Formats: sequence, C-alpha cells, structure tokens
Amino acid sequence: MPALRPTSAPATALTVAVLALLPACQSQRPVGPTALEAPVLSPPAHATVEERIQYWEDRMPAMSPIDQAEALLCLGELQLEAGDARQARINFNAARNNGYLSKAEEAQAAWGVGRAYLLEQKPQRAVVHLREASYGLGGPEGEECAYLLAYAEGRPVAAPDARLMARVARFTTFEPAAEYQPRVASGQVSELIDVPRRDWGAQRLLANHDPMEAPFRITVHHTAEPADTHALDSGKREMRDLQRMHQQGNGWADLGYHFLIDQAGRVYEGRPLSAQGAHAGNSELNRGNIGICLIGNFVAQPERGSDYALAQAPTGAQLDKLDNLVAALQSKYGISDSQIWAHSHLKETACPGPALLEWVRERRATR
Ligand SMILES: [Zn+2]
Repeated sequence: MPALRPTSAPATALTVAVLALLPACQSQRPVGPTALEAPVLSPPAHATVEERIQYWEDRMPAMSPIDQAEALLCLGELQLEAGDARQARINFNAARNNGYLSKAEEAQAAWGVGRAYLLEQKPQRAVVHLREASYGLGGPEGEECAYLLAYAEGRPVAAPDARLMARVARFTTFEPAAEYQPRVASGQVSELIDVPRRDWGAQRLLANHDPMEAPFRITVHHTAEPADTHALDSGKREMRDLQRMHQQGNGWADLGYHFLIDQAGRVYEGRPLSAQGAHAGNSELNRGNIGICLIGNFVAQPERGSDYALAQAPTGAQLDKLDNLVAALQSKYGISDSQIWAHSHLKETACPGPALLEWVRERRATR
C-alpha cells in the first residue's frame, strides 16, 4: 500500500524550498523575481551540480523525515545529472522507503530509479521502475518515460525526434543520427492502390486521430473475419462494414489499417497515411507504423461460432500484392527489412495467423 502524506503535516520552510527547487534540481535555472522570498533554504543560485549535492547532503541529517523525502528526490536528480547513477538510485530508493512520499513523488522516485538503471546500462532492471513511473507521470516526463520504457523493453522504437532525443539520449545507447529518413515519394504506392476511398464509399476521416510521423515500420494483420471478397462488390461491402465497425463500434477516427488487400489481390485505400493508424496495440506501437491488413480469417476461432471455426488461407493473389505493396512502401519511406512485423511480434495476439507470420519471417530473413 502506498504511503500517504499525513494531512496535518505543516509545510515547513524547507518543504516549500524543495518544492520550489525541484525543477531547478535538473538544471541550473536562475531564480527569477517570482521565486519565493527568503527565508528559503536553497543552495546559492549559481552553485555547480557538485556544490548542490554537497549542500543537500550536509543538511540532510538535521531534517524532518518529510523534508528528507523531498530532499532525497532532489539529490537523486542532481546525482543523475552528475552521472552518478548508483548513488542516485540509492537516494531515490531511500525516498521511496521513508514513507512520506505523495503519489506524484512516488512516480518521480520510480522515474529516477528507472533512469539510473538505464545509465548503468541495465535496461531489464529499469523496466519495472519505468512502468511504475509511467502510471504517474504526465507532460514531457510522461513522454520521455513512455519512450524509455519501450526502449528498455526492447520493443521496436523509432529514433526520437530531435526534441525528445535531446532529453532521452543520455539514457540510451542510440547513435545520435536518426536511423530512418523519409525518402522522396516515388508514386509507386498510389499506383498500387486499386480501390481508393471514394470508390468503396468511405465515410470521412474523423478528427480523433494523431498525425502520422515519418513511417519507419510496417505491420501485417488479418481482419479475423471470414470473407469471400473475390468479387469487387463484396470487397467494397467488406470495407464499409469494417469501417463502420471501427468508427462506430470502436469509436476510432477511421479504419484502423492504412491498406487492405482482398482475396482477389486488390489493394484498398484504408485510413489515409497522413493519420497515425489504430492497429498495433497502443499509440506508441502505432507511431510511424503502416498497417496492412489482408481480408479474411486466418486463425481458427471456434469459440466465435461455426462461421469462424475454420481458418482461411491467404490467397496467392493476396500474398503477391502484399509483396509488391510492402516493397513499394519500403522504397518510398526507406523502411528496412528488420522493421517489417507481424502483429503478433508486437503484442500478445493470434493475428495474423501462421501463414502470414511465416511470410513475415521469410521477408525478414531472406531480403
Ligand atoms: Zn492484427
């Protein structure tokens, strides 16, 4: 059970000082005219990181436990800044153990321990702490935490944009140069679309979506719905049904996938590529991720009734078109073979079934 701060605890001068200083722990931000007036305990405004660390260490023994908890968080941040990961971790853990942290401060402590482990190049150890922190952090720290958690878990992550990179780079082993660069459009992809949105009667894209960043990966799915879409009319009907299911049933902005392929090998334009998809599992996994879905049910699902009991197989025409579409997208966006995924690579799911999983494995292995 998390420790709760006693509600009767008075805000001492030090509490106020430490709260005011927490942002300043991370950088030597000058204290502006709106900062609290004396008598506030704080290191001199232009003190170095080392001097600040010394300042808090000197005063720690005389502090009340409540003030100590906050000073330990401050100290941990300064030690991270100074690159002393092990000592930072000890202080963040001491803050956690002292019993006076608020919920938000507990997330800060977990965030500190997680980053310390990353500095020590022990990402597996960082995971549990970053995950705990991710429930309590918001804003830029929440974004950094989500990124570093994905990194620590070894999930596929894009090299971050320059702004995020500046904040997380020292906790990762990424090279500073981004590993992907969008290439100039060749027009090949649009040539491969057989049935654009207007032709199958798409409803418009709704506003509740994130913009798509430069695509750097592709994920392959099946619709998990038994289908016979050899005839164009039935393919179009299937597209409208799926879009209705995703927009009205799931409350999404559009179809989750960017491209769909019917059993005759026709490519349908799904969610516009300007919009981040809703297919991989969560928004981190959907970042820069092009979703391609083959129409059909490629996994036996007897629990859903007799219609679903038998697995269909992807048709040769579907697989041929998948080959072409993936190659065109790779060439257009500079996507490497190692960034072609089956849905089941990214999350616990039976999608896209054994046949497509094999297709992805071959694609990753042989090209
Ligand atoms: Zn899927």
